[in-house]
Parts: sequence; C-alpha cells; structure tokens
Amino acid sequence: MVRKVGYLTIDDAPSADFRNKVKHLLSKEIKAIFFCRGDFLVERSEDAIFAIKQGFVLGNHSYDHPNFSEIPLKECFNQIKQTDEILERIYEEAGIRRPAKLFRFPYGDKGSGLDAELGWPDDKDKRLFMQGIQNYLKKQGYAQPVFENISYKWYNDAGLAKDFDVYWTYYSRDCEVAEYRESGTKSPHGYYHLRTIIDRMDEDVPEGCCGLNFRGSSDIILVHDYPGIEDIFVPLIRAFLNKGIYFKLPIFT
Ligand SMILES: [Zn+2]
Repeated sequence: MVRKVGYLTIDDAPSADFRNKVKHLLSKEIKAIFFCRGDFLVERSEDAIFAIKQGFVLGNHSYDHPNFSEIPLKECFNQIKQTDEILERIYEEAGIRRPAKLFRFPYGDKGSGLDAELGWPDDKDKRLFMQGIQNYLKKQGYAQPVFENISYKWYNDAGLAKDFDVYWTYYSRDCEVAEYRESGTKSPHGYYHLRTIIDRMDEDVPEGCCGLNFRGSSDIILVHDYPGIEDIFVPLIRAFLNKGIYFKLPIFT
C-alpha cells in the first residue's frame, strides 16, 4: 500500500447533496477543502455554515463558474470579489474565523485557455491577463496554504506552487463519469465508468495527474460535489483510503 498524504479538495460545492458528503467525510474522520460557487452558496448557506462548524474549510470557486479566459479581466475580478463577500458573510454567521482565503479557477482555467499547457504562456497578452488575475488574488489576500511535500517535477516546473490560486496534482476525473451518467457522453480519455477512474489510481503516470503510486510526493486531490453521493463520491473516497491515502488539511498561515 502507498501510505501518503492526500489533501482533499472538492469543487463545485455546495450541491444538493453537500451536507450528506460532509456527514460522510465526518464518519470517516476526513477533513477537506470545499471550493464553492457563489450562486450555490446563496442557495444553501445553511449547509455551508454547517460544514464550517464541523471543521471543513470553504474556498472560493468563482460566482457562477465561467471560463476565466473567455471573460474580460474586470469580470474575473467580479467573480472573485462577489464570492469572497458571500464567504465572508457565511463565516461571520457561523461565528468562526475564516482560516484562509483560497481560490480555485473554474475548470482550472487560469486565464490562458482550457487547452493551454500549464505554466506561463509565451503570448504577451495572455501573460498580462493571467498576471492581472494573480495580482488581484494577491491584493485580495488570497494565497496558497502550505501543502507539505508536493515534489512532482511537472507541478513545480509549471510554477503551480507559486501561484496565488490552488491547483491540484491528482484529478479523479469523476466529472467524466458523472457526465456519462447524465448525458451518455463518453469522455475521449476513456473514463466513463466508476471502475475506470478507480483503476486509474494504479496507473503510473504522475506527470499526467495519473496514478497515485508515486511515493515521493503528497497529492492535492480533486473531486467534485455533484448531486448524488452513493454512486461516485462514496466509492471514490473508499478507493482512496484503500489505496493508502491519509487525508489531512494543509497548514494555513
Ligand atoms: Zn468547478
């Protein structure tokens, strides 16, 4: 068994089954960061407060999940700011100090486009656009928490550890399974049954966020908060635990 630290990050929260996921994680003594959409927080602020009181951390995942490379810079700032204010209010209502300001880009699109290579592009306009968002995050007090021992070369070469948003090192591809169940659309990557994304944990291509066998690094793990829990979320968490992942929160400075 691998035995290594995993930092669990759960995007697109809070869904209709968010509270059930929180309860499930509590039963397994797993703490996690939920990256939340502002529009969903408005709808389910009580659930968000419940999670905060149980020791979970809520991060900012924009207001309504656009591709940041496809909207003007000003609108990117708005997306961050709106949800920031909602989170501020929710933490206040919960009566708990916000431990950190954390941001994750919708689709991981840092502003250079969805199909872009990770890292800073050669295109000057794109660079300025991305830098503009990073500067804004910094100015608003956003920073990465301390994820200990993330040593993947691809991750560090792309500068991901230095950005002011939180990226990931292992992506479960659960959304491709959810997409297949929803619409019958098969992912071009071949991951559309639950089995395929669980087997994928044993692949050995850490450069492609693929496989969890590499012992030399911790992992920042990305899953999603889709409506539903038993079909994908619960078996996925079980598979991580069976794989020997020990979940903990990063250090908030
Ligand atoms: Zn998302």
